[in-house]
Amino acid sequence: MDEKTGVINKVSGPLVIARGMSGSKMYDMVRVSDKRLLGEIIQLRGDEAAIQVYEETAGIGPGEPVYPTFEPLSVELGPGMLETIYDGIQRPLDVIKSLAGDFITRGIEVPALNRERRWHFVPVTKPGEIVEPGDVIGEVQETVLIRHRIMIPPGVRGEIREIKEGEFRVIDTVAVVKTERDDLNITILQRWPVRQPRPVLQKYPPDIPLLTGQRIIDTFFPIAKGGTACVPGPFGSGKTVIQHQFAKWSDAEIIIFVGCGERGNEMTDVLLEFPKLKDPKSGEPLMKRTVLIANTSNMPVAAREASVYTAITIGEYFRDMGYSVALQADSTSRWAEAMREISGRLEEMPGEEGYPAYLATRIAEFYERAGRVVCLGRNQGKPMEGTLTVIGSVSPPGGDLNDPVVQATLRVVKVFWSLEDKLAFQRHFPAISWLRSYSLYSDALAEIMEKIAGHEFAENSRQALALLQKEAELEEIVRLVGKDTLGGNDRLILETARSLREDYLHQNAFHEIDTYSSLKKQARMLKVIIHFYQEAQTALAKGADINAIERLPVRESIARMKYLTDSELDQEISKLLNQIEVELKGLI
Ligand code: ADP
Repeated sequence: MDEKTGVINKVSGPLVIARGMSGSKMYDMVRVSDKRLLGEIIQLRGDEAAIQVYEETAGIGPGEPVYPTFEPLSVELGPGMLETIYDGIQRPLDVIKSLAGDFITRGIEVPALNRERRWHFVPVTKPGEIVEPGDVIGEVQETVLIRHRIMIPPGVRGEIREIKEGEFRVIDTVAVVKTERDDLNITILQRWPVRQPRPVLQKYPPDIPLLTGQRIIDTFFPIAKGGTACVPGPFGSGKTVIQHQFAKWSDAEIIIFVGCGERGNEMTDVLLEFPKLKDPKSGEPLMKRTVLIANTSNMPVAAREASVYTAITIGEYFRDMGYSVALQADSTSRWAEAMREISGRLEEMPGEEGYPAYLATRIAEFYERAGRVVCLGRNQGKPMEGTLTVIGSVSPPGGDLNDPVVQATLRVVKVFWSLEDKLAFQRHFPAISWLRSYSLYSDALAEIMEKIAGHEFAENSRQALALLQKEAELEEIVRLVGKDTLGGNDRLILETARSLREDYLHQNAFHEIDTYSSLKKQARMLKVIIHFYQEAQTALAKGADINAIERLPVRESIARMKYLTDSELDQEISKLLNQIEVELKGLI
């Protein structure tokens, strides 16, 4: 053993305590034992280090060596990430599998980015130009859908001395930059420590909608590009379907999905199903603009802890190219449980429910990496704007939203989509509660949504939500004293709310047309229902009978408008608006 090697003192599950570690820093990566298991220093006291090990530690014991790397846990960034399924520490699963079979051999070292594959690099800068950190110097067509912009790494500035065009591997030099100190070779690949947010020039308030084509989300609980959301997912509530819909239809260019250790078979579902999804806009596999990170069940819990950081760092990197990125983390509760387990083994003072006292801080720091930003660098002299939207699912034990992880999450995220198994049980999909969900972006987005959608969209959605809330109150009364005691106006509210739920909010993810609603379609559909409500109110005031209103044939047509294509929309909607007036007039 050379003098830099530490020695294992104690092994406790995924945690290894080692002596002789002076010179190492917090969050440095180490290799544990001659099996070279990957670990990360998470506590340092004198020359004693606590190491979180990302591989199974069975059979490892005191006295064995620990090899410091003196480098923080980092990811490799460059073309080749799209279409790849990684584990929590960015090892490509297919490569590992081909090398080691189904059970990942410990200590296996596989580069995250393929070292042999050649990419066609096209420069967008010339010798003599001055480049600053984050500036785009060239491009690689990574997949048919995504052009990968190659950037000057943060911290580097100078004059381009030389820049090449041609077929290169990620480790080849494509440009030479003359910095203040010396000439620096720039490769396609760059590295970044996962625990450190990548720098940006400026953060903007997120006030551009990330449209999803899902009516309950866009109309009532919208999310902004660069925003944050939380979604609980009781079993069978349709969480997977929502995640797929979001990945397919949201107007983000890059999708990052991290499965941080759900139950074994659920993880397999993600691995099997995600690669089958089609990108509806291009017809290409969705993976062509997706990076998938999945902890398989044979990875220890500590790897879950790393996986969310791996994912968000990759997300930030694509954001830095000026892309709109949507990251879904499923489930952050499992991530928090990993934190709890490690903290317990470190014998730290436990906080609520045994979670470490820093739980809330870690969760907040994670979501703070979302945002709409002015990117650090420029593309051919032009500033770039990128967004990273983060949606975390939570799975509290027993669905209890008072759980510390949920509470800490709700304190930082701005949107809550309350998925409820009760609604799923009634076959109301998406099973997102209109009573318990919220979006703190609604007001900030109202104006721009109205501009896109027209048709008094903002006002109509406010009124629709108010009607649904009123319905909940009226239902209490109906339960107590029966429907017959209600007046015509209240019966009309119930009828309109029913229409809102069944004809509007209910959206079939598996129906060719209904699966996606443009914002224009949403605005027109909503207008029809609100128009019906308003006209019926007038008719009631003029003496029309509520029973007759409830039986009007136009209600059938309203129920079918979700199946209209965008091209039929204008004509059919004006017909509908007209039909409503004619039929209601007939009752007066
Ligand atoms: P979870 O992941 O929460 O266990 P899934 O997402 O697999 O649940 O959904 C369970 C079932 O619910 C699906 O197989 C499907 O039949 C139905 N479902 C969920 N969402 C929708 C939807 N938007 N439209 C139609 N059916 C849905």
